[in-house]
Parts: sequence; structure tokens; C-alpha cells
Amino acid sequence: MIAVLRNSVSKEQKDHLINWLKGQGLDVHISEGADYTVLGLVGDTSRIDPDLLQSLEIVQSVRTVSEPYKKASRKFHPDDSVISVGGASFGGGTFGLIAGPCSVENREQIIEVAEKVKASGATVLRGGAFKPRTSPYDFQGLKAEGLKLLSEAKKVTGLPIVSEIMNVEHLELFVDVDIIQVGARNMQNFELLRELGRTNKTILLKRGLANTIKELLMSAEYICAGGNENIILCERGIRTYETATRNTLDLSAVPVLHEITHLPVVIDPSHATGHSAYVPSMAVAAAAAGADGIMIEVHNDPIHALCDGAQSLTPAQFDVLAKKIFAVREVALA
Ligand code: PEP
Ligand code: MN
Repeated sequence: MIAVLRNSVSKEQKDHLINWLKGQGLDVHISEGADYTVLGLVGDTSRIDPDLLQSLEIVQSVRTVSEPYKKASRKFHPDDSVISVGGASFGGGTFGLIAGPCSVENREQIIEVAEKVKASGATVLRGGAFKPRTSPYDFQGLKAEGLKLLSEAKKVTGLPIVSEIMNVEHLELFVDVDIIQVGARNMQNFELLRELGRTNKTILLKRGLANTIKELLMSAEYICAGGNENIILCERGIRTYETATRNTLDLSAVPVLHEITHLPVVIDPSHATGHSAYVPSMAVAAAAAGADGIMIEVHNDPIHALCDGAQSLTPAQFDVLAKKIFAVREVALA
């Protein structure tokens, strides 16, 4: 249930109402805009009579929210959320460009890629340390050592870093990681989501291979429910019957999500297509669609990459693409 308060409401009146609602056992989510206050009520709202609430002088309107996601819903939070971390920013008109290798392989590799993508305009460095590989015989990542190397690259370049967590027990290894990624395969690892909800880390939540937009938002809601609303959503392609690409990029997720949630939306054209040749057009399309950020895999030597070389751009290719992304974004915003 949502209660929109009148502009004229005083702080005392507002506090009085909020305390009363909390006293009814509800969690009250407060969203203050320039000229509105929205109270989002979570919990057993059957205890509240909407007509009674509506009759209060300070209440402008009352609406019930039928969606099962509440805190992630735009109804609870009409303005775009702007997620800022380490100098990078996503949403509400700001744009983040995330780039880096699929996995951290060695010091030279990550430092070289970090310096080059930064020079091209990337605002966040990515690099997997714990890798969710389909085969147990494939390279599984450098794990704690990979995170250390990523931290070194952060120190050298000043770029904030994003890396994937697979196990909640590894959380303490991620202190220096600015954005914790929940990968597609873990989108519904509810224990992990709950734990991340108890932190104040920024979370990059990727859509599962076979999950709906609604399920993505329910997973975001798990994190929000714990008190952490620093969430960036990521569409990375879904599984369809098409085999020409690794996955099928659901670009319509951008306008759909923008309509129903306040959380920023990032597109990952690398995992969506699986082929470096298709990445630039999908990245440019994502910028045109109004994505709040784009994440691209970049490797200094894609042919010898230990993971996802086929979809990785070289730093030179990324440089050309970054210019196009920024140019298209200007046009899309105009
Ligand atoms: C990744 O970003 O490295 C990754 C494994 O992506 P996804 O979870 O989308 O497959
Ligand atoms: Mn990858």
C-alpha cells in the first residue's frame, strides 16, 4: 500500500503518521522527492483501512500495490535511484561504463587492461576472481589472489572494481570490492541475496538465464528487504531456442524495467551475444535504448584468454566502441 502525502504536511504530522503505521507492525519506506512524500507500507497491510488513511487531512491519495516487489517498485520510489560508487554513477541521467576481462589471470593482464579501458572512458573495472564455469575442469578463477590483483589495478588506475561472489562465506574477501556482482546462475540464491541485503555494498544483480523480469525484481527485493537498496540490475541475455548467439539479448528489458522500477539498468552485450563481432552493435543499441550503463568484456589477448575470449574485445576495439557509445547516448538523451 502507498500513501502519498500532501505538500503542505509538516514534519511533526509526518512523523506522527509514520510512528502510528510502524506501531501497526508495518515497515514504512519513505521516499521524499522535491515536491512529494511517498510512504510505502510493507507487511500485513490488511490491518490498515485504506479509507481511514485516505480520510486523514495530510494524505493526498492511497493506493494498493499489487506487485509482489515493493521496495524495488517505482510506485514506492517515483524518482530514479542514482547509484554512485567510487566516482562512478548509474541511473537518473548518469551512465556507467564497466569494462575488463572475464577473469583476472595475472598482474600484467589486469593492470594493462585496467589502464587501457580507463583511457577509453570506462568508469568501473570488472574482473572475475571466483568464476561460475559450466565445466568443473575449466579455469575456475584465481579466487582470493584474483581479488588482490584487482585491488592492485584499482590502486594503480583509481577505477572502482566489480567482481562476482559465488559463496556467502567469501564476503570478507570482498571488502575492497566496490560493486559485488551476483551472477546469472546465482540470481535466485536467496541465502546469498539475503546476506548481501545486510551489507551496504553496491550489488550488480544479473538476470538469470531463464528468469523473467518479475523474478529479477523479486531477487532485487530480497536484497532491498534486508535494508540494502544499492542495487544495479543487469540484463545479460536469456536462453531461447536461438543458437546463433550465446543467449538472446532482451533489450526491451531496459524500457520495461525503467517503467516499473527505480533501480538503474545495465546491459551486458558480451554474455548476451557470446561473439566479439556482435558486441558493438548490441552495445550501441543498449545506449540508444537508454540503458544506465553497459558492461563489456575486454582482454589484452582474447585468443589466449582463459575464459570467454570469443566474446572479448581488444582494448583498441573497446576504444572505438566507447566513443560510439558516448556519442549515441548523447543523441538518445537529447
Ligand atoms: C560474468 O559476468 O563474468 C558472468 C559469469 O556473467 P553471467 O553471470 O551473466 O553469465
Ligand atoms: Mn565472462
